[in-house]
Amino acid sequence: MKSILLRPGRDHSVLQRHPWVFSGAIAQMQGQPEPGETVAIRAPQGNFLAWAAYSPASKIAARIWSWNENETIDADFFHRRIQAALDLRRSVIPVEETNAIRLVHAESDGLPGLVVDQYADRLVVQFLATGVERWRDTLLDLLVELTGIQKVYERSGVDVRSLEGLAAREGPLRSIEEPMGDQAPFQPALIHENGLRFLVDPVHGQKTGFYIDQRRNRMRLGQYSAGRDVLNCFCYTGAFSIYALAGGAKSVLSIDSSAEALEVARKNSAQNGFDGSPMDWMQADVFQALRAFRDEGRQYDLIILDPPKFAQTAAQAERAARGYKDINLLAFKLLRPGGLLFTFSCSGGISAELFQKIIAGAALDAGVDAEIIEHLAQGVDHPVALNFPEGTYLKGLVCHVK
Ligand code: SAH
Repeated sequence: MKSILLRPGRDHSVLQRHPWVFSGAIAQMQGQPEPGETVAIRAPQGNFLAWAAYSPASKIAARIWSWNENETIDADFFHRRIQAALDLRRSVIPVEETNAIRLVHAESDGLPGLVVDQYADRLVVQFLATGVERWRDTLLDLLVELTGIQKVYERSGVDVRSLEGLAAREGPLRSIEEPMGDQAPFQPALIHENGLRFLVDPVHGQKTGFYIDQRRNRMRLGQYSAGRDVLNCFCYTGAFSIYALAGGAKSVLSIDSSAEALEVARKNSAQNGFDGSPMDWMQADVFQALRAFRDEGRQYDLIILDPPKFAQTAAQAERAARGYKDINLLAFKLLRPGGLLFTFSCSGGISAELFQKIIAGAALDAGVDAEIIEHLAQGVDHPVALNFPEGTYLKGLVCHVK
């Protein structure tokens, strides 16, 4: 069996069941495994530690499938892992809540590098590591078999694939040879969430099409919206805005820099019967718009800040921190007494602790007395395995201005 022998002292994290083996931990390769091939990870003394997928081009040289020597990494293994991921979602997300669900969340579901999102009768998949890339046909067969969903679209065109030495890959997969003509081969899906309806375009949309991870945070927002003037910054396709209106908001102004996202947002508004409601959409840079609003002396009762990832890595955290501070300071200035701020960070490089410090600094500099009334996180279909804290990325605070 091809093996990776670890350096002395570098077997610790594997014993603690962390799923990554860094290239610097390798003392010696035994055999010449191909990219994605299953190898045994061995302690310096040679004893077995885990089965893993080898990734020669990556700093993460191997991602662990299993710590059980008796387990064979084959189609049955992947069947068990996918089924377990599906079972978790079925047990914690009632069917009436939504049909837009992250079915597989990579490392945290024991399937390093595999992301699968369901949007009604479609799946969107990402193969983000050499291990799952090598098993892609098996995984696709199993996904179709276990979900009963036939239409699968790949959105693996993301930067992380290049770190693994893999080319970007996007397009329809499997049995979705729908009629071409002037019909796009992969139409947007219409999904439901807590009784609301949203269009999701897996082909042109951001990420895999929709920010599923904010579902229960949007629900929260809806519960706090009644009678409030709401400002939704970085609104994308308007999901928070529509929850706010459904929750009885007095008015909603939503800002995004993307014209395409706002076009879908308007359609979503119509889908939910909110045509003619006090709902405005604005294409602008949020940093500039908030400054202009401050200068005009505008005031709101509820502000949502859900910006894109400002920091990809811990190294970029400082620049990101300045960005978060800037928008949160401005938002605090725009809130009336009694107002609420829903503020988020999806940067993995910014810890929850640091994020809270940044928000505290923003309130201080804005001259505002505020308190945290809720801590928010990514949804239940984005679990964080206890042996993989890196799986945490989305954090949010609901702050009340006194
Ligand atoms: N809250 C949304 C997701 C937001 S994603 C939801 O629940 O669906 C971040 C959004 O910020 C994207 O739509 C992107 O187009 C937008 N964006 C990025 N930089 C921006 C900027 N400087 N000003 C305004 N919008 C920006």
